[in-house]
Amino acid sequence: MTETARKSILLVEDEENLHDALRLNLELENYQVTSAYDGTQALKAVKAEYFDLVILDVMLPGIDGINVAETIRVQQNPVPILMLSARDTSADRILGLKKGADDYLNKPFNLEELLLRVQKLIDKNQKLQERNHIAEKYSFGKNTIDFKAQEAFNTKNERFSLSKKETMLLKLLIENKNEVVKREKILQAVWGYQVYPNTRTIDNFILNFRKYFEDDSRNPKHFHSVRGVGYKYTE
Ligand code: CA
Repeated sequence: MTETARKSILLVEDEENLHDALRLNLELENYQVTSAYDGTQALKAVKAEYFDLVILDVMLPGIDGINVAETIRVQQNPVPILMLSARDTSADRILGLKKGADDYLNKPFNLEELLLRVQKLIDKNQKLQERNHIAEKYSFGKNTIDFKAQEAFNTKNERFSLSKKETMLLKLLIENKNEVVKREKILQAVWGYQVYPNTRTIDNFILNFRKYFEDDSRNPKHFHSVRGVGYKYTE
């Protein structure tokens, strides 16, 4: 395995002995480990860096693990989270999963089981990213979109620029080609959980996409509204 292929893990655990033991074992499995000992450090790290996984203890000084998970999700960060907790009640487990954890392990846990779950979560996330990956440039009909440059060429081969939100929405719809993307998902992904715009905002974006990319914007071939549910892109 080359250095660049190493997967990175943020380890958030305040009990030092356990922290060191986990870190050592994860490093032996060839993971790149970043340490955090409280919620504030953890949130700072996830904002500053990309991680393939976060191992997150629930009981932490200051901001607890549940709040850390919730904040990570509010910030639109889809990083997989494996939560660790000494509390062994299903209510806690459900709360953890609700707030954004992908998996949950009670302490004391079997190290081998933890390593297996870590690997599974990372693999699953990798596959998801590969499936959804689209190239920097995407062509359909006579149109081409350049996501990186935030610009497009329409059917008449006219070049024009796209706003950041237009680019994000186009990418989201195209990545989910032939599937209805729910209104809520669009609002979360493009506008963020907390600032919900007027629901007509998305309609206006779709109307613009039709003007940009459709031969006949009244009979759209590519950008469809599904009444009361969401929107769909077809090639
Ligand atoms: Ca703890």
